[in-house]
Amino acid sequence: MHHDAILIGAGMSGLAAALRLALFGKDVVVLERHNLWGGLNSFYTKDGHAFDVGLHALTNFVPAGTRGAALTKVLRQLRIRHAELKLGQQRHSELRVPGARLRFSNELDLLTSEIEREFPGQVDGFRRLVSLVESTSLDEEPGAETSGRAVLEDCIGDRRLVDALLLPLFYYGSAREDDVDWTQLTVLFRAIFLEGLSRPEGGIRPLINLLVKRCKRAGADLRLSAGVARILTKDGRARGVELESGEVLTADTILSSAGFVETMELCGEEVAAAHTGPADHGRLSFLEVISVLDTPPAELGFGAATCFYSTREPFRYRRPEGTIDPFSGVLSAPTNFEADRPPAEPLLRATVLANPAPWLAFGEDEYRAAKDEACERALAEVDTLLGPWQSHTTYRDSFTPRTVQRFTGHRAGAIYGSPRKRKDGRTPIDALVLMGTDQGYLGVVGAMMSGIAMANRHVIAPAASSPSSTVEVRA
Ligand SMILES: Cc1cc2nc3c(=O)[nH]c(=O)nc-3n(C[C@H](O)[C@H](O)[C@H](O)COP(=O)(O)OP(=O)(O)OC[C@H]3O[C@@H](n4cnc5c(N)ncnc54)[C@H](O)[C@@H]3O)c2cc1C
Repeated sequence: MHHDAILIGAGMSGLAAALRLALFGKDVVVLERHNLWGGLNSFYTKDGHAFDVGLHALTNFVPAGTRGAALTKVLRQLRIRHAELKLGQQRHSELRVPGARLRFSNELDLLTSEIEREFPGQVDGFRRLVSLVESTSLDEEPGAETSGRAVLEDCIGDRRLVDALLLPLFYYGSAREDDVDWTQLTVLFRAIFLEGLSRPEGGIRPLINLLVKRCKRAGADLRLSAGVARILTKDGRARGVELESGEVLTADTILSSAGFVETMELCGEEVAAAHTGPADHGRLSFLEVISVLDTPPAELGFGAATCFYSTREPFRYRRPEGTIDPFSGVLSAPTNFEADRPPAEPLLRATVLANPAPWLAFGEDEYRAAKDEACERALAEVDTLLGPWQSHTTYRDSFTPRTVQRFTGHRAGAIYGSPRKRKDGRTPIDALVLMGTDQGYLGVVGAMMSGIAMANRHVIAPAASSPSSTVEVRA
């Protein structure tokens, strides 16, 4: 069967692209290998507990109607009303490095005043950094990458403050070790510090359900358990796909959210060998421990919605030597967001860097033992920040790079994909386009923006490929 577009993957980028294309009357089919929507950003129920996988916080919070903001553009292009997301804002979050604790909220003034208090000589440098971020324009044109860390260090002279600011920028979206491309940094800085964090009521499920319902209503064909085994190419152009079931579908354009290396591999060994190298492989993955508590974290003295921490100096954001690096991470407490209807159970989620190699190599028994040991080590370090809280744990679950690889197909569980992003979505194969993680917009809102931008640019208005036209094509 022939389609205008085939989309590989029903994560946030695939679902947003599908809805965008279907609203434009395009004949689109989404092929998802799993039996569940959402990809990296999904949900599950275990022993009666409902968990989200990839949502601590929705970045890019702005009030309804805020002009020019990413969230406003995404919602407008998908014809979703802001109120439908029922977003509860963070009360505050925290950055913690040895000897300093900075709160931030969805008002930049709080972070500025906290910097003034903890690092009095650095506030002018911070303001200069904010101006630089605000004056950097976002586009989808490929360009030379600049070290984001170097720009930050140029503005701010105190190493601990640099570490504190880099913590969320790395943890919420850098695929590079110890650095992030400057343009990417500006996207993340806006998303986290200039706009802010919120949580949809009910977590990620209502948002995914909304996208799926709207896609179906607009006429998109969404297929679960429909893994793509091969992308069919002829004369350097993608023509269609063969599913794991053997079924063949063809299309004018194929958009893939599987990742750059993974997508090249679907085109065959020769294509992968010719166009990918070690620099394309993501090296960073994470272990997350989710603790169900009998008491809300705020009542145990932890009032932050998220807390980005490093207990050692300097903060290292690299593949650890052993199974995990417990000395930095993110804590997330869903009950510390404003909500008309708070989450059913108080949770505390702790995410730390993990080395995929041992996790993928372990046998089953070894894997389970290593998981227990790594969770204990990660939480022991959290104790140094929060004091005693673990006695309030009633249930615990965790996932590792192995879980991420198994459920999303991302090699080595590399959540942020390849360090080399392809901003225009182009691949060496004509009519085969990347969207999502390896195109370069990360996170939930970023992935949706990526799906929309690539759908606009390569399917809806391929001739008008200027940056503004890609995100601004109106339905
Ligand atoms: C633990 C964790 C915490 C996170 N926390 C946050 C957060 O707090 N805030 C935030 O904004 N973001 C967060 N993220 C990141 C966010 O979830 C992702 O950036 C975003 O969901 C990526 O979407 P995507 O569409 O690019 O890719 P994916 O979600 O990876 O979607 C790709 C899809 O393609 C499918 N696929 C792959 N290969 C094939 C094939 N051959 N055939 C068919 N289907 C295939 C996969 O199964 C998958 O469903 C987190 C992620 C994780 C894992």
